[in-house]
Amino acid sequence: MPELNPFKIAQRQLDDAAKHLKLDEATHEILRWPRRELWVTIPITMDNGKKKVFHGFRVHYNDALGPTKGGIRWHPAETIDTVRALAAWMTWKCSLAGLPYGGSKGGIICNPKEMSDGEKERLARGYYRQIAIIEDERIDIPAPDVYTTPQMMAWMMDEMSVIRQRNTPGCITGKPIVLGGSLGRGDATAKGGIFCTREAAKALKITLKDAPTVIQGYGNAGMYAATLSVEHFGSKIIAVSDSKGGIVNKKGLDPWKVAEHKEKTGSVVGFPGSTKISNEELLELECTVLWPSALENVITKENAPRIKAKIVSEAANGPTTPEADEILHKNNVFVIPDFLDNSGGVIVSYFEWCQNIQGYYWELDEVYKRLDARITKAFHAMYDTRKKEKVHSRMAAYLVAVKRVVEAMKLRGWV
Ligand code: NAD
Repeated sequence: MPELNPFKIAQRQLDDAAKHLKLDEATHEILRWPRRELWVTIPITMDNGKKKVFHGFRVHYNDALGPTKGGIRWHPAETIDTVRALAAWMTWKCSLAGLPYGGSKGGIICNPKEMSDGEKERLARGYYRQIAIIEDERIDIPAPDVYTTPQMMAWMMDEMSVIRQRNTPGCITGKPIVLGGSLGRGDATAKGGIFCTREAAKALKITLKDAPTVIQGYGNAGMYAATLSVEHFGSKIIAVSDSKGGIVNKKGLDPWKVAEHKEKTGSVVGFPGSTKISNEELLELECTVLWPSALENVITKENAPRIKAKIVSEAANGPTTPEADEILHKNNVFVIPDFLDNSGGVIVSYFEWCQNIQGYYWELDEVYKRLDARITKAFHAMYDTRKKEKVHSRMAAYLVAVKRVVEAMKLRGWV
């Protein structure tokens, strides 16, 4: 039975990179653990007048490169180990993207689907009051994540403004535009993946015009991946899916009309002119680009030998298991690893923070231009290392990211 504790997985991935980089024991040990973590209890008055106590965490994984950056998740099954793992992955993601940030993550054990807006506001403000002791625009900058929204970021930012007695837009990102959010944040994740896919296709000398493209998951990341693949490359979307199943039409689907259909009916399934297929079959379709954009662990050692895509553009976090990585690499399937492919979101969050601190706001074109330059540079850092070290893409991305954090720690005199 493979290890499913996400923090153990994150540590194992780091151990592999540490071995490759021949890190000394102290350097390796400090990178295996969060620098600090805060456990909080948050008493809230519920709408029925009764008090309820919620539990939450904030983990600062490593701050050698700068203030830590990472989302806040609200989930009934949240655990400290999930938060630790995600904080570690944020550290590598920010490092690979060349951002002046370390990594962090936060979580509250709760079910926002069962809470009123008033209860959510009290919980958001209560959580932020508890963690404010380790928060600041130069210490740690949260953002939205699973089940958290720009409105919740607005409440938390307002809470900080009350605590500090000044306007503090730079203490949190993913805010509504009117409160200092950045233009371009909505489709930033998929847009970053599109720029990486363009670079991968160039490196492999394959054309993306009319290229059959398959998308698993038709939410924020997947839907934009589909429409942007058509807009940027003129690719042909032949299959898409969501939690209810998949649809295929080898002649091509109109991704905007599919989005309208999903909006109306709640699923992509039943879209006129398409045939239904399962999510498993969809992954194995003959195509140029496959975008896993839904869940983790969908490409495993069982189905990896049957993946026929030339490029796997990982918009989702953790869609490929370590065993599958090796198989895909051997079969010449080019994987753009998650913490590179989906780093567009945190890159534009960084731009939001820069704009907040400058008090000067950029046009949309400026945001996209800077996103393209930054993520393209990160792609080539990974690709050059991949060729030089003869390792698969994920290991190459790890090597670049870990090396940069190690260099910062050494220069600071920590190790
Ligand atoms: P979302 O909730 O908007 O969309 C998820 C989609 O996946 C939905 O269409 C859902 O129906 C579908 N889905 C759920 N279970 C499925 C299944 N078994 N098979 C196929 N489809 C299924 O979420 P999102 O924001 O698009 O995030 C998707 C992935 O991208 C996650 O792994 C997330 O961590 C990652 N990601 C997103 C962002 C972002 O900015 N949105 C940033 C970084 C990473």
